[in-house]
Amino acid sequence: MIDGFILGLIVLLMAWAAIRVRGRKPESWLPRELRRASLFAVEQAFVRTGSPPLVARPDRVYRRRDGCLVPVDLKVRAHLCVHDTDVAQLSLDAFVLQAATGRPVANHGYVVLWHPRQPRHRVVWVPLWSEDATRALIARYEGLRSGRSPPIPTAERAKCRGCGFRDVCPGG
Ligand code: SF4
Repeated sequence: MIDGFILGLIVLLMAWAAIRVRGRKPESWLPRELRRASLFAVEQAFVRTGSPPLVARPDRVYRRRDGCLVPVDLKVRAHLCVHDTDVAQLSLDAFVLQAATGRPVANHGYVVLWHPRQPRHRVVWVPLWSEDATRALIARYEGLRSGRSPPIPTAERAKCRGCGFRDVCPGG
């Protein structure tokens, strides 16, 4: 009898929790531009064939009503600020997205920053790099990977941890 009561209570609590989760606005952080857009992809791999072949896996891609795709990067970090590397990553995502889908891609994206312990977040609109600048980044990476161009040591030593070029870098 008591077992049945507890079981019933658990079922009720689970149903109540499910209703609460479903009742929450799932994407309350969405910027105004994307509120009427549809979700086009979530962590989906897009491949640009050609030289060099590239793969991008943007966290989210939204399709606006005019058909334009907008990449979104989700980050969890204590300091809710955007780094240059975030913009570089989004620019690469946009470059590959355009090549892989043949669809128009916005020249901006969003970085959504979530605090790991506090209920705080920040949505930042960022202008993406031009195609030329993105191609230059890819060429630079190719040069580093092939050993044709040497790494340029950075003053920010923390960045060297986990860097794939540490073995060949004079500053690593
Ligand atoms: S090891 Fe450090 S200085 Fe060298 S390329 Fe990597 S991040 Fe830059």
